[in-house]
Amino acid sequence: MNKIYMRGGNSGLYSPGNYRVTSNGCLRMILVRSKCGQPVANHRERFTFDIGILCEKILADKWKAENKQVELDVEVEEHIIDNVYIMGHIDAILEGRIIEEKSVQSVNSFKKIMKGGLYKKENIVQLLQYMMIKEHTEGTLLYTTVGYFGEKSEPGQQREFKVRITEDDKIIVNEQEESGIRLIDILYHRQQAAECLMKKIIFTERPEPIEMPWYPCDSCWLRPMCDNWDSNHDDNEFWSSVNNHLDKVGKR
Ligand code: SF4
Repeated sequence: MNKIYMRGGNSGLYSPGNYRVTSNGCLRMILVRSKCGQPVANHRERFTFDIGILCEKILADKWKAENKQVELDVEVEEHIIDNVYIMGHIDAILEGRIIEEKSVQSVNSFKKIMKGGLYKKENIVQLLQYMMIKEHTEGTLLYTTVGYFGEKSEPGQQREFKVRITEDDKIIVNEQEESGIRLIDILYHRQQAAECLMKKIIFTERPEPIEMPWYPCDSCWLRPMCDNWDSNHDDNEFWSSVNNHLDKVGKR
């Protein structure tokens, strides 16, 4: 039987009455990507991707110069259920810690993360996904700036959040408990995604944001198809609209 893959980066939180994701972790989106693909990257997405690569290079050079023990770009794969697997790409494992690297590319993110010392919960969820796959209890979410964002900013600034999973499954971020994220919900989300992929079912619920006010449906390219499906539950129409859209804009 052919393997079906879910990406580790498409993580989210799920338990009855508590379904919170970004659009990447939406259970409908995961199925659409697996069956049909997604639109080719636009200019902004390509720019974000390139900046991410640049950040990875800056960090890799720094660790090398410091003689740190580091494995870069670690590919992982884990069986979930039946013929469904989760696969992903860990940015680095640095002296036993799983590292999730993120670049800061906007004034708002700069204010929140670099000045405010706050992290994005969706980034912690993604890091925890990889920590669980590799069975590591220690990880670091590492933000790097790549441009000037006003006063007191310079390229290459960093802010790190050290994440630890305790023996009773509590999540500790920089020695403070993160009570808004539960490991079990990341695992339930993974299971639910695997079931949608296996049975090819369009998930009925619409998601809530991991963090307010960024509603996943607001900026999602599938929104018109999803609104229509919610009104008639016509799977054929849904799939034909998705494929028509992808034929029009090009897919990857
Ligand atoms: S519009 Fe909303 S429900 Fe539909 S795929 Fe996007 S995020 Fe998911």
